[in-house]
Amino acid sequence: MTEATRTRLPEKGTDWKALEARMQAMGEQDVDWRSGRAAVYVFHAGEEVLDVAKQAYALYQSENGLGPAAFPSLARMEREVIDMGLGLLQAPDGACGNLTSGGTESILMAVKTCRDQAAARGVDPARLVGGALAMNAGCYGAETWDIVEQVLTIDRRGVQRRRAAAAFETGYRHCALKEGAVLGASEWFAAAWFRLAAGDGAAARARIKDLLARRVATQPLALPNAGSVFRNPPNDHAARLIEACGLKGLSRGGARVSEKHANFIVNPNGAGRAADIEWLIDTVRATVRERTGVELVTEVRIVGEAAA
Ligand SMILES: Cc1cc2nc3c(=O)[nH]c(=O)nc-3n(C[C@H](O)[C@H](O)[C@H](O)COP(=O)(O)OP(=O)(O)OC[C@H]3O[C@@H](n4cnc5c(N)ncnc54)[C@H](O)[C@@H]3O)c2cc1C
Repeated sequence: MTEATRTRLPEKGTDWKALEARMQAMGEQDVDWRSGRAAVYVFHAGEEVLDVAKQAYALYQSENGLGPAAFPSLARMEREVIDMGLGLLQAPDGACGNLTSGGTESILMAVKTCRDQAAARGVDPARLVGGALAMNAGCYGAETWDIVEQVLTIDRRGVQRRRAAAAFETGYRHCALKEGAVLGASEWFAAAWFRLAAGDGAAARARIKDLLARRVATQPLALPNAGSVFRNPPNDHAARLIEACGLKGLSRGGARVSEKHANFIVNPNGAGRAADIEWLIDTVRATVRERTGVELVTEVRIVGEAAA
């Protein structure tokens, strides 16, 4: 930005009609969140909710939240929102909260608080391992549960249980409790203890580097994707079957079956909608079934409804 091209404060005001038109034109390139084309940033609960939110916001837009003594109204609203949050989390007596603006920011604050608390208790700040345990994530011949000794789980009431690895039935992209709770529905992983075989650190790092390079060379990691779409059928590879059916490059709405790895669906510009991706999944499954007799099973989990 040079001094010559810098936007300057206008000498005169602009009438509202002209200003409104200019502001609306500015938004023409923005993501079309009203029709559900934004996975993050904006959550659209419909025009009626939007209208109430706008009016409620306008009622208090000038009051300043930094001054709770001057604006007890805002202090009360903050308390009520925090109380509702604590209620939803079934927080015990003495629990407190903090109001931040923006969903992502709030999640980051919650994760940061947990990590800070763990660090203060001398625990190396936690990494997220829940998904890897639930999916028994693995590649190149090794799986997560190969090295799990025990896990800590937590249920809806906050009850924590240490469970030995033997309490779980695990397999290819599968993990379930042998008895009792349903993982992911009434009990979740909160921590895990892993036992790794002693070995040569330098050799291990070199092997990791080598395997990561193999992954980069064979998977479309530079483009948005959700990982392997289908589970590998017994003694075969989903990617081999999809490629053999000539489905690489099959596309709809901007999403397509990756040319680099046939078991990935890529969505390069985010233009493909959930409905396009589900169409691709269904078409690949039907074509592979028809031509090879193999019924592919999805590894990805589809939640919610696809926007048409
Ligand atoms: C580019 C790419 C490559 C991938 N390659 C591989 C691969 O080589 N091998 C492989 O196995 N997977 C692969 N995946 C799939 C997936 O990312 C992994 O399985 C990963 O371990 C999932 O972890 P996550 O933390 O992202 O979990 P999420 O995607 O957030 O969750 C995965 C599942 O676990 C459940 N879950 C999450 N946390 C918990 C918890 N605390 N308790 C109980 N359930 C929980 C979720 O509900 C969900 O059903 C790949 C994905 C991508 C995008």
